[in-house]
Amino acid sequence: MATPVTVVRNCAWAVTRADGEVSHGYRQAIDIAFAGNTICHVGPGFTGQADTVIDGRRLLAMPGLVNVHCHSGDEPIAKGLFEDVGTAALWGNALYEFSALIDSDADAKDACQTVMLADLMRSGVTSCLDIAGVHPHWLSLAVQSGMRTWLAPGFREAAWRMEGSHRLDYDWNAARGRERYQEALRFVDEARAHPSGRIGGVVAPSQIETCSEALLQEAADAARARGARITIHGAQTMAEHEELLRRTGETAPQMMERLGLLGPDLIIGHCIFLDHHGWTRQRTRDDLARLARSGTTVAHCPVTFARSGMTLQTLGGYRRAGVNVGLGTDSYPFNMLEEMREALICSRVTAGSVFDLDTGTLFDVATTGGAKALGRNDIGRIAVGAKADLVLVDLDEPTMQPVHDPLRNLVHCAAERAVRDVFVDGRPVVRDRRVTTLDVEGAVRQLQDAQKRACRVAEQADPQLRPLAALAPLSLRLNP
Ligand SMILES: [Zn+2]
Repeated sequence: MATPVTVVRNCAWAVTRADGEVSHGYRQAIDIAFAGNTICHVGPGFTGQADTVIDGRRLLAMPGLVNVHCHSGDEPIAKGLFEDVGTAALWGNALYEFSALIDSDADAKDACQTVMLADLMRSGVTSCLDIAGVHPHWLSLAVQSGMRTWLAPGFREAAWRMEGSHRLDYDWNAARGRERYQEALRFVDEARAHPSGRIGGVVAPSQIETCSEALLQEAADAARARGARITIHGAQTMAEHEELLRRTGETAPQMMERLGLLGPDLIIGHCIFLDHHGWTRQRTRDDLARLARSGTTVAHCPVTFARSGMTLQTLGGYRRAGVNVGLGTDSYPFNMLEEMREALICSRVTAGSVFDLDTGTLFDVATTGGAKALGRNDIGRIAVGAKADLVLVDLDEPTMQPVHDPLRNLVHCAAERAVRDVFVDGRPVVRDRRVTTLDVEGAVRQLQDAQKRACRVAEQADPQLRPLAALAPLSLRLNP
């Protein structure tokens, strides 16, 4: 059977980046064709045979977005609980005392993953790196979704434990951590061998402070021996920063440099509290240079942290320092376009300057920044020979009007409302705003009960045995 060919004819606007071009550029009135999973024509006048013809005259064609940090495991049911709380003694972060209490049970894993993947695809994501625990359908659902997915099974030797509402302690269990590490390696090998060609596996020590130095080094060696990527949460909270200072006197990048972890195959989740950050009060200013020199990627997820009053100082500054940055959504709303908007706003507000970051650079971060992090030159851009991972944006969507610069309209105004079709590997995964590959409605119906079950467990797991009404009070008084 001949390879099926699709052409988007006469795209009003297209974002393209050919081999050798250093950044994306706009083109107008061109055809984009792909045969099977590969783009075969970018330019005016496609003359080949096409099985499917899409009228592009009212469309923007852009590369699919690359999300380098998200969690399908529990986050879809964490919604609406802890947005207004934090631990004052831990710099306002809600992670250890609150968010960590919410775990989905085995029955909820599939629904959580389905909802995350669907929300991401509807916001134009075609590649994602999902850090979660291994569950029976994790791999098969990722395959079924059609999304290009890197699965990163987390493992750690220490669990967080809160003492009152003020102190974070660590319960170490090295034997259990080692078991999870071996299980993770087996899963990474299985994922990387999947015949779809769309599934990757990433070695993921969960957090820099919950693994021993020996395990961190061993995990990095195991990843490098396989040619796999490594991802880890590092410099994500002030509590972690203070813990590392207490243990070694180092910041997260200093420690990772000493352990030989830094490199172009490492993706550090969040990487906010570095030696230049105003909260950390360090005397050096070397961490950004350390990351840039080593080619390490930062996975920047502004929304979750901005909700807790924290932000990178600053996305524009990291880029100017030469650090490769990719964008991630971390937790809900799993909306990459909202994440992009917030990344830009946080960068400018933190810098106190409109000049800190522009929309074109931001788009680079959300596409080629992530592709580079994953070691890929054939995703995150529209070019002949690249993978057919692309997004068609409806210029007639009212929030896209009037059009002077379609990317600005999309990021600053319309977001996912204007995302009409999404292709991964040449296959439609979103068609006319609906996910075609997953039972999204069925999964959404399961979330309410799954959240109730998780909340009951959270009440029992809370060291202070607080009822849900105390852990997560409603935002308004509930009147009779
Ligand atoms: Zn994370």
